[in-house]
Amino acid sequence: MSLALVSDFDLSARNTLALKARSRFGVLIDDAALLPVLFETARAETLPVRILGGGSNVVLSSAFEGITALIALKGKRVVSEDDTVTTIEAAAGETWHELVIWSFEQGLGGLENLALIPGAAGAAPVQNIGAYGAELADFFDSLIAYDRQSGKEIAFNREECAFAYRDSVFKHEPDRYVVLSVRLRLPKVWVPNLNFAGLSDLSGEELTPKAVMDRVIALRTSKLPDWRITPNAGSFFQNPIVTGEEAAQVLAEFPTAPAFTQANGRLKLSAGWLIEKAGLKGARMGPVGTSERHALVLVNHGGAEQADVAAFAAHVKESVNGRFGIQLHEEPVFL
Ligand SMILES: Cc1cc2nc3c(=O)[nH]c(=O)nc-3n(C[C@H](O)[C@H](O)[C@H](O)COP(=O)(O)OP(=O)(O)OC[C@H]3O[C@@H](n4cnc5c(N)ncnc54)[C@H](O)[C@@H]3O)c2cc1C
Repeated sequence: MSLALVSDFDLSARNTLALKARSRFGVLIDDAALLPVLFETARAETLPVRILGGGSNVVLSSAFEGITALIALKGKRVVSEDDTVTTIEAAAGETWHELVIWSFEQGLGGLENLALIPGAAGAAPVQNIGAYGAELADFFDSLIAYDRQSGKEIAFNREECAFAYRDSVFKHEPDRYVVLSVRLRLPKVWVPNLNFAGLSDLSGEELTPKAVMDRVIALRTSKLPDWRITPNAGSFFQNPIVTGEEAAQVLAEFPTAPAFTQANGRLKLSAGWLIEKAGLKGARMGPVGTSERHALVLVNHGGAEQADVAAFAAHVKESVNGRFGIQLHEEPVFL
């Protein structure tokens, strides 16, 4: 097997922030057998490798002196079923939203709350994607990843992935694993998950996974700027999970501020709310700003590079910390 390396690879159209970004080499991985060749080549040439899916959760550097591997492994299938659950599998390069639609076509509900999240199936476990009261971990069965250290393919079950809020083992070992395929367990008897504002009024005989998905899509498109028109990476900061003491300043001033008690007794605050209250909704610094529609979304107004995003993100973090004493953390990965 030989690698089809492309020199001076332009990634500007391959990241949803539309940052100006080039890579010394780019390569399409459409066969898992290319991975050992890729890492051997990189070792021989002493070049770093970074992995890219749909480019919807990254802040790419303007000039990467290495190889960017675009994961384009395709295929989805029903693996098995028993009386209660159907297990499906998607290769890492499958588009997440298309997988949601395909699961409906197989007569399987479950993934509707996670509809329209951009990106590829292989990246979904990396940050345990979540939306509208659901997250990947709720349906996760297992995955296969290529281990760069041993050169072997290994299986991970749910516990081994160490899923948490927008987190997994893969986020902590970014240079080790390449996710090749993901298996999900979908219930035979559909139980709608309507415990989220905007969904709770759905009811009646007409209630189907498709009806919930349509509502999720309507809510998402009304709240979030379309990245094809206004380039962005979705929520730019994680909702901070803090102690009661850390939240005290916010809650003393704003007793009705959004604050959700977690299983461990800590409080999850709304990063978007904090940014808005810090006066930064619609703020702008050079080519980067927060969306007029949603303070949590950083947008590229045109011509931005990684450094512009980093500078504005730092400004937002300092402002929120200065105003409320709360530290925000970026959700997208700087690559
Ligand atoms: C408009 C918008 C809305 C969004 N809404 C949500 C939301 O509601 N909920 C949510 O959780 N996220 C959301 N996101 C973030 C993003 O869509 C998800 O994180 C998605 O899973 C990223 O997929 P990707 O293929 O684009 O990953 P990329 O951006 O290409 O990569 C993200 C990270 O994963 C790594 N990676 C990618 N593929 C693999 C692989 N096969 N193996 C190992 N590592 C890999 C990359 O190296 C990188 O570190 C949103 C983004 C946008 C632009």
